[in-house]
Amino acid sequence: MSNVPTITLNNGVTMPQLGFGVWQVPDDEAASAVTAALESGYRSIDTAAIYKNEEGVGRALAATDVPRDELFITTKLWNAEQGYDTTLRAFDASLAKLGLDQVDLYLIHWPMPGVDKYEDTWRAFEKIYADGRSRAIGVSNFQPTHLNRLIEQGGTVPALNQIELHPSLQQPVPRAFHADHNIATEAWSPLGQGGDLLKEPRLTEIAGRHGKTVAQVVLRWHLQLGNVVIPKSVTPSRIRENIDVFDFELSAEDMASVAELNTDTRLGEHPDTNNWQG
Ligand code: NAD
Repeated sequence: MSNVPTITLNNGVTMPQLGFGVWQVPDDEAASAVTAALESGYRSIDTAAIYKNEEGVGRALAATDVPRDELFITTKLWNAEQGYDTTLRAFDASLAKLGLDQVDLYLIHWPMPGVDKYEDTWRAFEKIYADGRSRAIGVSNFQPTHLNRLIEQGGTVPALNQIELHPSLQQPVPRAFHADHNIATEAWSPLGQGGDLLKEPRLTEIAGRHGKTVAQVVLRWHLQLGNVVIPKSVTPSRIRENIDVFDFELSAEDMASVAELNTDTRLGEHPDTNNWQG
């Protein structure tokens, strides 16, 4: 069994707090990466239609001995498919590629406010949920204004919002909004995509004191804040390193020190202006 703690979503479904992300993993490498993750104890996998590796992920799921009910599989609706009927069709296609008859979490990938179809899209998500084909439904890259519009529809409150979140972009306003509305916060690019963040002197000092790597300290910081994290790597030693974060704890001083690293620096698109459907 995996030693990763779970969080309970607003519909009672539990989800591992640490999972494995597969953005930019080519389809023909996805099966071996996911297999390495499963062997290292990961049980949650985060993919998306636009990653074009749902089939590779599906091959690893078909081959593993891990029972389906111990796995937590997330995929996402791509922007070009927003709208009620298109969403239902896109969901069927994702399930077929994954080789599953149900996912654990289905997310709207981006709100695309300039296109303004996410309310209709959400109604299709509610049908998928009502039909038992996704155990939970949520969103990604939604700002509080976008979430408010879904909440005002009066139906299902998203279980989770997956947003860019790391020590250089700590997202205090969305995190507080999520906490107020019982929406789980999931961090994408939790390691800042492995860039300069992992060379930050303050993090290096904390890591040295704990006998851990900077990546492990950053993941631990997320976990202690209550964030769900989905670090990505295709390197087996790093895949193992990124889940080996449950044998140490950052002090209140360490947490306060990391809090000071926020510079509101985004690596990805801004959700208010991204309407890309490519
Ligand atoms: P990440 O922050 O997980 O960083 C991954 C990179 O960091 C790796 O490619 C590698 O270069 C490096 N790395 C990983 N482990 C390391 C270690 N232990 N030591 C040193 N370097 C290490 O970045 P990500 O892949 O952008 O984000 C994680 C996941 O989040 C994605 O795979 C995807 O599933 C999801 N995501 C979602 C969205 C969205 O719009 N919803 C956008 C981006 C990513």
